Amino acid sequence: MSQSRIIVIGSSNTDMVVRTEHFPQPGETVLGNEFLMNPGGKGANQAVAAARLGGNVVFICKIGDDLFGESSIKLLKEEGININHVLIDNQLPSGVALITIDKKGENNIVVAPGANAALSVENIKDLDTLISTDTLLLMQLEIPLNTVKQVVLDAYEKGAKIVLNPAPACELPEEIYQKLHLITPNEKEASMLTGIQVKDINSAKEAAEILIAKGVKNVVITLGAKGALAIFNGECLFTEAKVVNAIDTTAAGDVFNGALVVALNEGKHIKEALEFAVEASAISVTRLGAQSSAPYRNELESYQQ
Ligand code: ADP
Repeated sequence: MSQSRIIVIGSSNTDMVVRTEHFPQPGETVLGNEFLMNPGGKGANQAVAAARLGGNVVFICKIGDDLFGESSIKLLKEEGININHVLIDNQLPSGVALITIDKKGENNIVVAPGANAALSVENIKDLDTLISTDTLLLMQLEIPLNTVKQVVLDAYEKGAKIVLNPAPACELPEEIYQKLHLITPNEKEASMLTGIQVKDINSAKEAAEILIAKGVKNVVITLGAKGALAIFNGECLFTEAKVVNAIDTTAAGDVFNGALVVALNEGKHIKEALEFAVEASAISVTRLGAQSSAPYRNELESYQQ
């Protein structure tokens, strides 16, 4: 099994969750039920998912000089993630997400990005020393788009294989498409990037072809409870999602991405890699939370030594 390193560059947040009977109207105060504080942020979630599934992960993010940041990073270290390149901002607080969930399970989320928004390309100059040919680099869009763009352009020159999970949905600078080894939008993100209403296999295939035409080498579009479609090395494949009793789909996409990069980094064929990612994300939706829902390698049936 290859142990070459996976570098994840992205966000780290603390999710503060309160359950309530109903959402407050403007000016109203409601009493909630229990309060939960969970580590989150797409970057950190994907780093944890990859590490639990056996990846040798280096995580780069920016936190504030405060207890939230300190405690998130401590947890990442306990997951076996290399946190030697995490940056600390002395001015801004660590990122937080304020989440309320009502009795129907709907959520309202306000994210205060804090230090995540100050992660600049100058901050990660030492990335040069980490990247070598074939390093797998995974990013999302919860850090400044300009940082993502510059890192993509620089890392591509060094021969890295760049995987972009374009979440949350946002238009991308045209020049980065050709530098991407793989892009992994969900239905909403694929619709935004291509103008195709992605809702099933056929529309996903159409959207994936548009992304390939823009210059991306490979595409995987996740389709929620339906599964995932790939165009990989010119081959089109679809893998159905596992039928499970889903209780919380938070971070399904993050677990899927973490799993997919681990499998690809081990040299698995895309068909096996999709099965691995579909299985890992199916387990995660049967559990509550973001990072807490990510499975360990020995929980997967498709686990192979
Ligand atoms: P995101 O969380 O980014 O919106 P998706 O909703 O597309 O991403 O989910 C990512 C993957 O997680 C899907 O491709 C699928 O394999 C798995 N998944 C999501 N929801 C379910 C579900 N209800 N049952 C089983 N698997 C699911």
